[in-house]
Amino acid sequence: MKSWIVKRTLEKKLILVNLLTFSLASIFAVILIVAYLWTAARADLLRNTEITAQVIAQNSASAFLFFDKKAAKEVISALNQDQNVLSANLYLPDRSLFASYRREGVSVSTWRNLEVQIPSPSVLMKSYFYSRYLVVVAPVIAEGQTVGSLQMYVDLRSTYQRIVSLVIMVLLATLGAVLVAGRLLKRSLRAILDPIDALVNTMHDVSSNDDYTQRALVKTDDEIGQLVDKFNFMLEQIQRRDAALGKELVERKRAEIQLDHIAHYDSVTGLPNRHFFNRHTMELAHLRDKQEMSYALLFIDLDNFKYVNDTFGHRVGDLLLVAVAERLQKTLRTRDLVMRLGGDEFCVLLDDPKKLDVAILLANKMLAVLSLPFHCEEHEFNIGASIGVAMMPDHVSRFDELLSCADAAMYAAKAMGKNTVQVWTPEMSKRTAQRFTIESGLRKAIENGELEVYYQPIMHLASNRIAGMEALLRWKHPVLGFVSPVEFIPIAEESQLIVSIGEWVLRQACTQAKIWEQRFGQLFIAVNVSARQFRDPGFADNVERIVRETGCPPHTLELELTETMLMSQTSETLAILKDLSGRGFQLSLDDFGTGYSSLAYLKRFPINKLKIDRSFVSDLPNDKDDVAIAQVIVSLAHHMGMRVVAEGIETVEQAAFLRQLDCTYGQGFLFSQPLPEARFAVFAENNLMRRIANQSNRHV
Ligand code: C2E
Ligand code: MG
Ligand code: MG
Repeated sequence: MKSWIVKRTLEKKLILVNLLTFSLASIFAVILIVAYLWTAARADLLRNTEITAQVIAQNSASAFLFFDKKAAKEVISALNQDQNVLSANLYLPDRSLFASYRREGVSVSTWRNLEVQIPSPSVLMKSYFYSRYLVVVAPVIAEGQTVGSLQMYVDLRSTYQRIVSLVIMVLLATLGAVLVAGRLLKRSLRAILDPIDALVNTMHDVSSNDDYTQRALVKTDDEIGQLVDKFNFMLEQIQRRDAALGKELVERKRAEIQLDHIAHYDSVTGLPNRHFFNRHTMELAHLRDKQEMSYALLFIDLDNFKYVNDTFGHRVGDLLLVAVAERLQKTLRTRDLVMRLGGDEFCVLLDDPKKLDVAILLANKMLAVLSLPFHCEEHEFNIGASIGVAMMPDHVSRFDELLSCADAAMYAAKAMGKNTVQVWTPEMSKRTAQRFTIESGLRKAIENGELEVYYQPIMHLASNRIAGMEALLRWKHPVLGFVSPVEFIPIAEESQLIVSIGEWVLRQACTQAKIWEQRFGQLFIAVNVSARQFRDPGFADNVERIVRETGCPPHTLELELTETMLMSQTSETLAILKDLSGRGFQLSLDDFGTGYSSLAYLKRFPINKLKIDRSFVSDLPNDKDDVAIAQVIVSLAHHMGMRVVAEGIETVEQAAFLRQLDCTYGQGFLFSQPLPEARFAVFAENNLMRRIANQSNRHV
């Protein structure tokens, strides 16, 4: 029953509840009415019958006094006026019948019933209700004495019939009222239910269409109206939130696209970057599973970009990179892809070149294009490039291998003297692996005690006595054996390791210089400084701290710098140089003549010494050009108050020529190879002894 009710509509439930209540009330009212009618009709009948009985009893009193049965019969027969009186009997005090009246036409069974129920005469008025009859017993009183009694039998059926017809009328009226009430209820319920229906319809529309702009159009001041207002308010809030969310989603999407662009494209040139390459090649790898395609990768590294960046700053460097990107794009077919992997490294993925020759041809075309001068602002640059070529499936079968092979080929191109194209061979990858081994080994080299500082004597050419030494780093790799600084210093520079390694060399050299100062007198100690160390903001402080801690006299320490280091960011460079010089350190220009020599900076910077590069010494005194260069450098240095060291002196002739040029110092295998500390001490000892011997010979 409960579940049946639950499943009905609200309208039906309300009608049901109302009708049930109304019907119960009606039934209760009908019962009350019937009870009232019943008691009222009985009371009326009783009263009337008793009055009639009294009248008949009074009227028959004289008949009793005179024992006139006829008169008594007449009196009692008057009762035929009343339809309901069935019979009446007058009794003498001894209960003998005096006179009687019987309505005609009454059935025999009725009389039989009556006789059974006859009450005894009474001296007092009494009434008895039986199911169908009323019996009234009234005393007949004459001259104050009870002379007899009257018994009257009244039929209740007509009274019942009246009551029944009244009840039927009441029931019909009630039924009619229920029906009318039902109709009215239905109509009035619409006024309540219509707003609810409208609300439900709106809710349905909103939920099925996700359309929060809809509103329930109901205007009532009752609870439903309040509910609708709240619902509409809720929709408004959702709509607002929805709009804000939509806006946020759009913004998030835009940010995602932007982030994706930042992540996959280079911000300087706008070219795809390494992440793009990885993603793109992953997609291509899937395609390749379906169709056999060839790919060639050209790994391009600009040859002299570092110089431009260091000399003219990053802004000009960026302009140059943009120009390079444009040139590369113009040289390529539209289906080929140019990417910037980082720094001055670009790569080009050639789509299905089919033959290696096509890739080599394109690589040479690019090399030619990149060898042409670049114009950035007022500057002109000749940079050139080293290009490595690897091909798939000819060389490798995977894209990641393709990249590492092209990279190895590019390194080979660099090693071949730059500005060339090299096609990958397995040997090249071995060398790259070696580079990797060097870099990872270098990280542990200091702690493992694999590094050692060698010292190469620097001789005073005129007197042939030792004047100082250059600290040169040596690395004995546990697997690779002796690794040349020419090989590992550039790798250390690329990976920042040079800062800690350089500091370690400086400390070793200064400690040693202090020890030898006590043994051999004052010798200067030259220490090579790399560009990274030089630009390190704490460099000067570090040097000063090391010098203080080791007790090495500052003026005996010579920091060897290179020309390229001095060319860049001149005002900043000048400040660093002045700072170092101000702290009492000597500054020496290594490999002089091989860089982008500008005499202007020699004048501006506090340089104390020039080191003529070995390449100008090796062909002395036969090569006229080298002779001229050496002469110029020496005389320039003297004019500017600087001393000169000639590097790489291997022959007596070279030494004699330089001595004759008045070159102050000489360094080279002629005097000594770079030596480990103990052997250097022996060399210095011998040199010192020779000098003393020479001096004593002169005295003798
Ligand atoms: P550098 O500073 O120009 O050092 C001179 C190089 O020339 C040394 O090479 C030395 O062994 C070599 N040399 C000296 N005399 C002769 C000679 O008569 N003939 C020939 N053929 N070579 C001679 P090394 O020791 O291999 O060092 C190479 C370069 O590595 C150095 O050139 C320097 O630029 C760099 N280097 C070495 N040690 C350090 C260091 O501790 N820090 C930094 N930043 N660079 C270092
Ligand atoms: Mg040097
Ligand atoms: Mg040098």
